[in-house]
Amino acid sequence: MLVVGLTGGVASGKSTVASLFASDGVPVIDTDLIARELVTPGQPALAEIAARFGPDALSTDGTLNRPWLRQRIFADEAARKVLESILHPRIRAEVQRRLEALRLQTPPPAYALVVIPLLVETGAYDALLDRVLVVDLPEDLQLQRLMTRDGVEEPLARAMLAAQASREARLARADDVINNRGAPDDLMEQVERLHRLYAGLAA
Ligand code: ADP
Repeated sequence: MLVVGLTGGVASGKSTVASLFASDGVPVIDTDLIARELVTPGQPALAEIAARFGPDALSTDGTLNRPWLRQRIFADEAARKVLESILHPRIRAEVQRRLEALRLQTPPPAYALVVIPLLVETGAYDALLDRVLVVDLPEDLQLQRLMTRDGVEEPLARAMLAAQASREARLARADDVINNRGAPDDLMEQVERLHRLYAGLAA
């Protein structure tokens, strides 16, 4: 089974692209979804966050207090590193578990897609991946889509982009590129071409 890592900047179109592969029957493992599942009540990661950050990290209903935590780590590099040290190893372990489960299927899928927003920034997934697919678009367009989707003002949107790997760094890591500057319909053709490529490589 071939393992393809899918990455791209915030609001580049990763989820949109992943759902097109999924509709082709390709198994998709999404590290953002795993991260959310890991901090639901009862999970050890949530207990560890509460232990390290104090009771303010939890809302009164026992769920993660996301706005508080976001604020807490925004200006504090050390706090962000603590949070990452709790979450990142667990996310990676869960990705490995899910890949293993797919390999044990009879027959295993030809390939699987793992969506990893910080693939280039962390490098932590390199050993698990056979190929890297980057969703690419010019930064002005990315900025527009981010502001529209998340309803954020331009200064915050720019700060979010600046906190990530540059477009060039991402492209330098790419084996394959999906160009998402056009209409959503343009994505389908590119996904179909890559779907055939990956199925062929796996065979
Ligand atoms: P990501 O998962 O990388 O953060 P999304 O898939 O959520 O990005 O896409 C970001 C936003 O841009 C979403 O609102 C999505 O509907 C929109 N979008 C994605 N691709 C296109 C496109 N080709 N044209 C216009 N809007 C798009």
